[in-house]
Amino acid sequence: MSRKVLVLAGDGIGPEVMHQVFRVAEWFAKHREMAFDLSNGLIGGAALDAHGVPMTDETLADAVAADAVLLGAVGGPKWDAVDFSLRPEAALLALRQNLAVFANLRPAIVFPALASASTLKTEVIEGLDLMIVRELTGGIYFGQPRGIETLPDGQRRGVNTQVYTTSEIQRVAAVAFELAEKRAKRVCSVEKANVMESGRLWREEVTALHAQRFGHIELTHMYADNCAMQLVRNPKQFDVIVTDNLFGDMLSDEAAMLTGSLGMLPSASLGAADTSGRRRAVYEPVHGSAPDIAGKDMANPIAMLLSFAMMQRYSFGLTDDAELLETAIRNVLAGGMRTSDIMSPGMARVSTSVMGDSIIRELGKLVR
Ligand code: NAD
Repeated sequence: MSRKVLVLAGDGIGPEVMHQVFRVAEWFAKHREMAFDLSNGLIGGAALDAHGVPMTDETLADAVAADAVLLGAVGGPKWDAVDFSLRPEAALLALRQNLAVFANLRPAIVFPALASASTLKTEVIEGLDLMIVRELTGGIYFGQPRGIETLPDGQRRGVNTQVYTTSEIQRVAAVAFELAEKRAKRVCSVEKANVMESGRLWREEVTALHAQRFGHIELTHMYADNCAMQLVRNPKQFDVIVTDNLFGDMLSDEAAMLTGSLGMLPSASLGAADTSGRRRAVYEPVHGSAPDIAGKDMANPIAMLLSFAMMQRYSFGLTDDAELLETAIRNVLAGGMRTSDIMSPGMARVSTSVMGDSIIRELGKLVR
């Protein structure tokens, strides 16, 4: 089985956290005979400096040809003034569009050692493990008509349009059902069917797909405003949540904060499966390039390493290896190691590289 991975470390802390991925990948190659064919490319400000564009056509072609893309982060003050079309972030949009990754997976997992760091009560979030699947390429951020117009009476009017088609809804719902099959077998579909036609269609299409193919999964429906409340009231009621682009944008950020730090949050964006069942995929931490701490060996590499674990699991079916890495991370946190962003009294503050060392050492202990 081919395991061609394009690594785009990007800017700021991107290369620092990605360095820890290379070390961990090397460990897996050596100790588990699970080698990846990793190649590097430039993206964001790094590509702009080298080539005058935030992503070259060659890099994009490499991404399309790869089995998976691992992305660090892009952007920084150095490039804040460049034209919008050349901004480092433009490369991310181009990458997602060209790979047609329509399902954004954001797990919210609370590691026992970090439960007390959440703003919510420990008993509410301890053991939390939920997955939000957000539709990423449709809905109100892309719908036409859109724009700002001046009306005959001189007022201005801003317009955006929420649009979804049967296929757009069903393909993202299928991803959610398939994920639930490997988890607690529960999907909650979230919309505003009470006030939006697109929400009514969403509910009907998810229900129809469920009846056709996923009757063995428990399906519930919830209005988005209620879901926002339930996420802070009792988040453990959820297994997989599937929702549209706009609601998913907000609900995934809300769920993220249940877990504490940005430095802990991985993500995956998946496209349609080809005939062999393989999906285009981009794995990246939720955080940005953190220019305030870049170059200081302070960044938390865990979000990036958990993104690598998601790649092992979802692109290559290496569930045992993904679990091994997640367990190593859990154990290191339980042992009291903390990067600055997750530091709390009585714990040991460590650098990016020492966190990487500790996780690799723990991997060694786990397979001994
Ligand atoms: P950010 O996520 O880079 O940083 C927000 C805060 O969280 C900062 O204080 C930072 O130090 C901290 N932080 C983030 N990741 C961390 C980690 N792994 N370990 C420890 N602390 C961490 O967001 P921002 O400051 O709004 O944006 C900075 C730059 O990143 C901007 O140019 C922005 O456009 C870009 N950005 C890129 C992406 C991406 O590449 N996907 C996402 C968000 C922002």
